Amino acid sequence: MNRDLRKTIIAGNWKMNMLASEVKAYKDELMPLITEFKAWCDTVVCTPFVLLPEAVCAFKGTGVGVGAQNLSQFESGAYTGEVSAAQLTDIGTQYVIIGHSERRQYYGETDETVNAKTLAALKTPLISIVCVGETLEQREEGITNELVTKQVKVALSNVPGDRELDKVVIAYEPVWAIGTGKTATPEDAQEVCKVIRNVLSSLYCEKAAEAISILYGGSMNDKNAKDLLAQPDIDGGLIGGASLKPDAFAVIVNAANQ
Ligand code: PEP
Repeated sequence: MNRDLRKTIIAGNWKMNMLASEVKAYKDELMPLITEFKAWCDTVVCTPFVLLPEAVCAFKGTGVGVGAQNLSQFESGAYTGEVSAAQLTDIGTQYVIIGHSERRQYYGETDETVNAKTLAALKTPLISIVCVGETLEQREEGITNELVTKQVKVALSNVPGDRELDKVVIAYEPVWAIGTGKTATPEDAQEVCKVIRNVLSSLYCEKAAEAISILYGGSMNDKNAKDLLAQPDIDGGLIGGASLKPDAFAVIVNAANQ
């Protein structure tokens, strides 16, 4: 983390879990466990679409923001089952996860759709958490850096290097670490996050790259968060399983607010 240069962000990804009737109880359990919200750290929970109104209402005024887990690349129209960026912001959604590996793996999302969705989100106040990361096979082949470089470059095609970049966050999520209990070592995660920052620097400039938050995701939990967050280029976490447990999520949030 480098809180002088960029925001720290702790984002929970509830995936396809929880019911509307459980949101308030989650909030009631979480909030007393969070000791402090520092100005340089944002906390957010990314919920399924149908839970967003409930979550926006429950977390209003608490300091915890609300995000979606996906959005349409189209602005409006005949796209049955899709949800637009404008519809998300209209109900108070502040963040959106784009290109999560589960969307790439199960729903055919590609670097190109990730780019289209990022451009759509950037037309609104939404903050995009753009996910990149390698599979185990790709890591073993030794192509992690090359792959992540391409993912970042394509995802940010035509994203101008002006104030739009303030609304872009990159999440490095090694696919083999997501939901598996296997975490990248802080050093390995740092190495790839540094590669990502260098790519951002080559796409824009060093100053712009230093201002962009890069999160780590992949079995981050209450035990390993502190060491991961201590790395200079890891500016927070995208947290799946552990974000479903208010006590574990609060430990991570508190570690980020140290
Ligand atoms: C995720 O959903 O982005 C994630 C990192 O999940 P987990 O923390 O469960 O590995």
